[in-house]
Amino acid sequence: MPAAHRDFRSIWFFSLLAGLFMVVLLGAAWLIDQQQQQVQQATQNLQQRMGPEVLRLQRLGRNLLQIHHEGDRLLLTDSKGERREALLLVTLVSQHPSLQQDPRVAQQAERATQLLGEAAADLARSTQGRAAWRARWEPLAAELMHTADDLMSQAAYLPGTDLAALTQVARQARYQLLATMVLAGLFSLVFLWLLHRRVLQPLLGVHQALLKLQAGQALPMLPRSAVREVVVLGEALNTLAATMTENELVRHQLEFQAHHDSLTGLPNRRHFMAQAYELLHRLRREHRPALVGMADLDFFKRVNDEHSHAAGDEVLRQCGRLLREALRTQDLICRFGGEEFAFVLVGCDVRAGLALAERLRHTLERHQFILPDGKVLPGMTVSIGLAPMGVDGLEKALGEADKALYRAKGEGRNRVVLEERTVAA
Ligand code: GH3
Ligand code: MG
Ligand code: MG
Repeated sequence: MPAAHRDFRSIWFFSLLAGLFMVVLLGAAWLIDQQQQQVQQATQNLQQRMGPEVLRLQRLGRNLLQIHHEGDRLLLTDSKGERREALLLVTLVSQHPSLQQDPRVAQQAERATQLLGEAAADLARSTQGRAAWRARWEPLAAELMHTADDLMSQAAYLPGTDLAALTQVARQARYQLLATMVLAGLFSLVFLWLLHRRVLQPLLGVHQALLKLQAGQALPMLPRSAVREVVVLGEALNTLAATMTENELVRHQLEFQAHHDSLTGLPNRRHFMAQAYELLHRLRREHRPALVGMADLDFFKRVNDEHSHAAGDEVLRQCGRLLREALRTQDLICRFGGEEFAFVLVGCDVRAGLALAERLRHTLERHQFILPDGKVLPGMTVSIGLAPMGVDGLEKALGEADKALYRAKGEGRNRVVLEERTVAA
């Protein structure tokens, strides 16, 4: 009994594999989607938040620079009107709501407004204290300048920070996409490899086995497979091969039965004629002689009458075997019908043919036939007619041999007659 081994239906196996792949791919797609959302978010941020923020910082910086500029003008000019105008501008800019939103900037603007307001009032009375006011203004002016620089720098670097974050997210998304592609490629390779090894290769084996079977060769060992469909196919192929072998055997048996006599096992008359035609054609091409003979057992009816029909059958069977053995392998013989045998002596001239025919006659005459009932029949005599194979063909030569046989019977039986010549027993 063959060792049991686990098999599976390929449809389940490959469906499972494809399902697994789908799950992994969906997971990867979800991750990529997440990354894409992050990229989108970062881009939106850049578009919606960054623009206004940069503008706001730049505006704050410019406002501080303007306060700084107007402060300088107020402390340098001798014109009262210009000092008033400068103070008005400083006050207006300082109280602007955008400035008030940033505590550091609001506080510096307030200090500047206060100092410049006091300086303007003092200078309106006398300009002698200008140097003292300038000395007090300088540190605050430097502070304003510094903060303005700071704000401008922030405005310049802010998009850079967000762009770096965006680049980082985009890079991650790219790696993830790459990893997914590699995974898909690997999976495809594994899938194809399994398909090739588990299904295609065994199927190729089955195909080659079928080709061999078709060419009439023996079925080779089929490759082992765990795929149920391939196993079933292999089993079907084995059954087919067994049936074909059996059919071939039966065909041979039928062919043998169609070509041979069932009693003696010798070729029958039809098969003998076909063989003889072919043989004589060849001999004619090769310019070799041949003799055709007809042999008829003498008084054979008596065997049936004095013993039994079964005894007659047994004598016929033994005669057939003895004649076949007495002839050479290249010669042809058949049971022509009843107790008559026909033969072709290949490559024999008349002399050699007569000698061979004599040998046949002697063989039967000397043989002791053991009958089915155990009795012994001491020899059978046979009359033989011989004719050389001429240019007129097989039928003509057989007819001449038959005539010679008739003459042998008429001349007393138990003899070989060649056309006109008679060899006495
Ligand atoms: P002859 O010397 O003139 O040939 O005499 P014979 O008795 O041999 O010839 P005949 O033609 O009178 O008889 C042939 C006999 O052969 C008749 C027939 O019953 C017998 N016979 C033919 N075929 C078979 C067979 O297959 N089995 C048996 N047992 N007898 C057969
Ligand atoms: Mg006869
Ligand atoms: Mg006879």
